[in-house]
Amino acid sequence: MTKRKHYDLIAIGAGSGGLSVAERAALHGCKCAVIESARLGGTCVNVGCVPKKIMYFGGHIAHTLEDARDYGFALELKGFDWSKLKQSRDGYVQNINNWYVNYLQDSNIDHIQGFARFISSNTLEVNGEHYSADNIVIAPGSKADVPAIEGAQFGITSDGFFELDEQPQRVAITGSGYIAVELACMLNALGTEVTLLLRKQHLLRPFDVMLRESLTEEMLNQGINIITSSAIKKIHKQDSGQLTLQGDNGQTLSGFDQLIWAIGRSPMTEGLQLDKAGVETDAQGHIKTDLYQNTNVDGIYAVGDVTGRAQLTPVAIAAARRLADRLFDHKRERRLDYDWIPSVVFSHPPIATIGLTEGEAREKHGNSVKTYQTRFTPMYHAFTQNGSKVSMKLITVGAQEKIVGCHLIGMGVDEMMQGFAVAIRMGANKKDFDDTVAIHPTSSEELVTLR
Ligand code: FAD
Ligand code: NDP
Repeated sequence: MTKRKHYDLIAIGAGSGGLSVAERAALHGCKCAVIESARLGGTCVNVGCVPKKIMYFGGHIAHTLEDARDYGFALELKGFDWSKLKQSRDGYVQNINNWYVNYLQDSNIDHIQGFARFISSNTLEVNGEHYSADNIVIAPGSKADVPAIEGAQFGITSDGFFELDEQPQRVAITGSGYIAVELACMLNALGTEVTLLLRKQHLLRPFDVMLRESLTEEMLNQGINIITSSAIKKIHKQDSGQLTLQGDNGQTLSGFDQLIWAIGRSPMTEGLQLDKAGVETDAQGHIKTDLYQNTNVDGIYAVGDVTGRAQLTPVAIAAARRLADRLFDHKRERRLDYDWIPSVVFSHPPIATIGLTEGEAREKHGNSVKTYQTRFTPMYHAFTQNGSKVSMKLITVGAQEKIVGCHLIGMGVDEMMQGFAVAIRMGANKKDFDDTVAIHPTSSEELVTLR
């Protein structure tokens, strides 16, 4: 008979959600394990936020080098070594992987390497071994979508992007969300010729109109080729290895060394055998959870991307920690409030956003909405060729002018939003912003002096 090891809690997936729930449960004295089929740290550490942000910094330095000339520096740039940056980036990620190995050991959390499958509602099978738990947290994350069209396999996803040993010279990116614009801006900054293909009219459609219009303008100024209303129908690979894309509008684009699919991500539930545990999913395959991360099966919970809510690392972590506090620290009502989630798009320049867009606010609150908006050249860019602008919008509701949305784009807004998010989540009104003494000279002071 197969030996069975029993735990208080097992997390499926050692990414942002799985590691966090096990870590917090272990702190509360539970015997925990994480099961991971790939590298510790999950998407964020290995093929997401972390390596992406390193590349973003690379792009930022490229822009800074251009600005340096306007600040009087006579620079002779002798090139950019993609493989050097990749090597440093991969080394940094590897260090984080190694750190997690030790951290799990030190925290008395068992690390089970392999792919988990349910064989009943409280038992999982990994490499022929059985592991049971009173509490199982499903946190397998998501994977990039690739469309079912002819030649789609010639494209890569963001995972493939991080494997590129050489800098592509001409890239087509399909998609209009976070990943598409982040990769487009960063590759362009590093010197790749980028074409961004949108199947509709706008990039970042769910974002406030001011943000997407400003970013589109900035991207066009930087020389990114944006083609709207064009869905790819077919991809052909030439003998030279170059790709030709055929659009549904009859347009043919050729000469790309890479095509990157950035069209959204789907839950990683394949192979989990959720049916053996009776766990329900929605039409898109996301695991259905209530406000407390409970699935429909007692003792089984889900956190992170697999639940189909905001697919962000801090969201997976916060939901996971609160779940562990609820289950093992007698905090019966502890749960994540998904309403006030700040987020940054690491485009060049970055976007930071929280709350309702103007469109959503007007739909929900009608005439009681009042907005405050500004657009200016930050002092840093006062005399640079780049001339990138900052745009800010505050959306308020009612006589008290409660702030229900804040949308920023421009240099530094990625670091600006976190503090404002605290105030907004606490229920700040426009007057609270007005009554806060500005910090001068900064761009953020404009947010407390809006008229
Ligand atoms: P993951 O972190 O993906 O972890 C899931 C883990 O489960 C994986 O390691 C997987 O191998 C493992 N697994 C899956 N199935 C099984 C199984 N059956 N058995 C065992 N193991 C399994 N978010 C931000 O907040 N900021 C950013 O800047 C940001 N940038 C991103 C950039 C990119 C390119 C991408 C793709 C994502 C980015 N994200 C960012 C999103 C963020 O990475 C995810 O929201 C976050 O990682 C989700 O955490 P998770 O725990 O749900 O899943
Ligand atoms: P997103 O959901 O952000 O955007 C994908 C968009 O691509 C869709 O909204 C859709 O927009 C468009 N699209 C969908 N299908 C097609 C198609 N067949 N052809 C062309 N376009 C298509 O997905 P991403 O993959 O960019 O990122 C996944 C998630 O990862 C993000 O939502 C985010 O939560 C997270 N992430 C977070 C980051 C951060 O915090 N900085 C960075 C990277 C990822 P439309 O309908 O307008 O065409």
